[in-house]
Amino acid sequence: MEVKVFKFGGASVKDAAHIYNVAGILKNYKNDKICIVVSAMGKSTNALEQVFYAYIKEGLDVFKEMMLDIIDFHLAEAEKLHIPLDMLHVDYDALVNQCIKTIEPIDKANKGAIYDQIVSLGELMSSKLLTVYLQQKGKRAHWLDVRNVIVTDKRYQEARVDFLVTQENVNDKVSPLFEETDVLVTQGFIGAEPDGLTTTLGREGSDYSAAILAFCLNVEALTIWKDVPGVLTADPRRFENVEKLDRMSYNEAIEMTYYGAQVIHPKTIRPLQNKGIKLHVKSFIDPDGEGTVIAHDGLLNYPPLVVIQDNMLLMHISSKDFSFIAENHLSQIFKVLNENRIKLGTMRNSAISFTICVKDPGKEKLNKLIEDLGEIFTLDVYHNLQLMTVRYFNKNLIESLTKNKVVLFEERMKYTIQLVVRPSLELIEKTEEEK
Ligand code: ADP
Ligand code: ASP
Ligand code: MG
Repeated sequence: MEVKVFKFGGASVKDAAHIYNVAGILKNYKNDKICIVVSAMGKSTNALEQVFYAYIKEGLDVFKEMMLDIIDFHLAEAEKLHIPLDMLHVDYDALVNQCIKTIEPIDKANKGAIYDQIVSLGELMSSKLLTVYLQQKGKRAHWLDVRNVIVTDKRYQEARVDFLVTQENVNDKVSPLFEETDVLVTQGFIGAEPDGLTTTLGREGSDYSAAILAFCLNVEALTIWKDVPGVLTADPRRFENVEKLDRMSYNEAIEMTYYGAQVIHPKTIRPLQNKGIKLHVKSFIDPDGEGTVIAHDGLLNYPPLVVIQDNMLLMHISSKDFSFIAENHLSQIFKVLNENRIKLGTMRNSAISFTICVKDPGKEKLNKLIEDLGEIFTLDVYHNLQLMTVRYFNKNLIESLTKNKVVLFEERMKYTIQLVVRPSLELIEKTEEEK
């Protein structure tokens, strides 16, 4: 029997009806052993982020109160699926109590560690619910705590995986489970550091978790089930005339996701490429659809692919004494960016300035960055911008994308163009007034 890894994201398990649909999809794979990697239900990760902020600000009582609502939401969906609630309730209470025990001794200054202990509850709870539901449907399903398998460093909120130890754990603890079970249900997004605290792999990281497990289980294919028919030429929430790509190379997929296409987390591709594991992106609404297959060989000719990122900022960094921005300055800048965990969208240097475009990291992080860079450099920062990246661009497309927009930055390569734009002329006038 073949082992397959399936990843179901937040949208595919957002409520009882969607969990029912997941069980329906599994009916088509009765002869396979499936490892399911599941995200938190719907927007529960965002809700848990609010719980985290409240805990930091107001303490444990508010935390407990807010957690009751989150548990109630899960139990209400479970009830619609006719799942006996008693056992699930006990499990949820145990998870929350465990979390309390873990966070209480952590210094509140160590926000990242506390964030990970709280926000990870979403995946732990959704995976419990799905397991119990599948068991009730007569499946031989087993809940696996992925924190006993995926081992990471202590870089909370964006932990890096120790593949060697994780591989050993998969060999010792995961593969043997398939002897007595058909479906393993486990969590995306989370892992544990060697001392046992929970870590998270970065927002949207469940795709990556699925790729890690696919890699370590040595499977032939990973399927990521989405609310779209496959990988499209652009985000369908922004553009009407999008096309599905039937095939795509790992190279193309890594480029597109690196530039911010939300459909797959960018870290997903590497483990798959390394072992030639095919990635199927398929629709959970139309599970018989072909979807997109990502493998070594893609299309010979790609249509234009558009990726748009909002809430970006442009920062001109120049030397204070009119000296050239040379290698020593650049290494200082990159050091500060790395220390502040800022990821570049695009960049360019001129004689006396270095320009970067980055996702707005939020007030607190931005002030810290400005403070660190401001010690050595003069800075000009422009907010509320869009970064547009177009692969296989043509003139007409660029013209239509930039219509009524002010282009502040342009970087053209052979196949890729990147533009940083202000959404509208109106907006620029407003901000000029504000100055
Ligand atoms: P999940 O919760 O399953 O991880 P996401 O919401 O993270 O799902 O990703 C799926 C969404 O990605 C789609 O609903 C779609 O709006 C968006 N998206 C952005 N760019 C693309 C693209 N090029 N192709 C397909 N979907 C895209
Ligand atoms: N639940 C996490 C998030 O919303 C991880 C994921 O869905 O991939 O970011
Ligand atoms: Mg996602």
